[in-house]
Amino acid sequence: MLPVRGVRRLLDSATRGHEGRSRVSSFSSSPWEAALSQLDEAARIIQLDEGVHDVLRTPKRSLTVAVPIKLDEGGVRVFAGHRVHHNTSRGPSKGGIRFHPAVTLDEIKALAMWMTWKCAIMGIPYGGAKGGVAVDPKALSRGELERLTRRYASELVPLLGPDRDIPAPDVGTDEQVMAWIMDTYSMNVGHSVPGVVTGKPLSVGGSAGRGEATSRGVMYITSATLKALGRAVDETTVAIQGYGKVGGPAVRMLHELGCRVVAVSDVSGGVYGPQGLSPTGLSAHRNEAGTVAGFEGGEAISNAELLELDVDLLVPAAMEGQFTEENADRVRARVIVEAANGPTTPEADRIFHDRGILVVPDILANAGGVTVSYFEWVQDLQAYFWSEDEVNERLRSIMEGSYVDVLAVAEERKSTMRTAATILGVSRVAEAHVTRGLFP
Ligand code: NAD
Repeated sequence: MLPVRGVRRLLDSATRGHEGRSRVSSFSSSPWEAALSQLDEAARIIQLDEGVHDVLRTPKRSLTVAVPIKLDEGGVRVFAGHRVHHNTSRGPSKGGIRFHPAVTLDEIKALAMWMTWKCAIMGIPYGGAKGGVAVDPKALSRGELERLTRRYASELVPLLGPDRDIPAPDVGTDEQVMAWIMDTYSMNVGHSVPGVVTGKPLSVGGSAGRGEATSRGVMYITSATLKALGRAVDETTVAIQGYGKVGGPAVRMLHELGCRVVAVSDVSGGVYGPQGLSPTGLSAHRNEAGTVAGFEGGEAISNAELLELDVDLLVPAAMEGQFTEENADRVRARVIVEAANGPTTPEADRIFHDRGILVVPDILANAGGVTVSYFEWVQDLQAYFWSEDEVNERLRSIMEGSYVDVLAVAEERKSTMRTAATILGVSRVAEAHVTRGLFP
């Protein structure tokens, strides 16, 4: 049973003001500072031992590598790549690989820390990692992209392995990139190792349901939240920012759930149709034009305007730092379900809480991807594959169970859902760390 009272209390207490307002550090200019301030808040509430807190504030290891590639037209270009293992107390580290021009070590550290809490919240036996290359993959030819991926993967070989560190797709990477990483690693060790990455194509050991798992998880969490709020899905309007691997299928799934998706955007712009946008029309337009911008089923809208629409539900599914103290006062949605990682700064979080806007945090809402990645890894290790129905059903059960766990902490601590989720993740990681003991 879903704890209806829990969600309603979160909204009620939000409109009365936030008990934790002064406790979050006053300014966060980067995702890493945001991640640290979320950890510090959770640590303060649970009175985490200072030494353990210090361990959790510090990534276990970070590797920065040069990634030189031969360009098609001749010459060489060098890109900067990173891989961060935040913590491995609960198991091998797990986390996506991002190809995006704005990638920095600081961003990757934050994303790795969030992966640690996310895996712990889902109860899956991984630590957190993340990697990335500062590159615009769309500016590369397919050959250049393959050379970049293989060289980056080669540089990471000492860190990777099915029992060490298991990458997956993130912004700007896809299942083909995962296949190249799997092959590069396999060539290095001399035999095929499908379990070294997840999010692979089915033909090389991928899992049914992985491609859309993050969006499916977002749909399960949205459904649970609306149910808990007593809100009819068919009276719920939705705006979704980002139309990639997560945002794209989320449009279709939230439409199928019964919501009215009225606005969608990507990096090139957006479209707004108050009567509802056709998911099939959008997808056909995007396949042809390469963007949702210009779709004739609605009027043109900017990304900034999309975030401030008068809708019931906002689903950020693009990049970090979309809701800040600059625009949070103008957001009109009642609920935000974070499909992206880190879309809300701590300052915006405080404003949302004070304004009674419920934020279902990334480390819970978008955990469907890593959960089915875990299923894929289990299937690879056993060389025995499950049906898509089985994958989706197990995913639903884990997501709904974790949702209830987070709400129970929010009830107990009288905290926001983000703080509750962070408390749950941090407590589980701290317990594993203390139980193992500090080496040597
Ligand atoms: P993607 O590269 O497939 O798609 C990203 C989308 O965001 C694209 O439509 C792009 O045009 C859009 N975009 C980029 N910058 C934008 C901007 N400034 N404004 C509006 N739109 C913008 O990436 P993805 O895999 O869908 O990831 C999206 C988010 O979800 C990221 O925060 C990622 O970390 C998170 N996430 C992804 C997964 C996964 O399994 N892929 C899992 C968990 C979380």
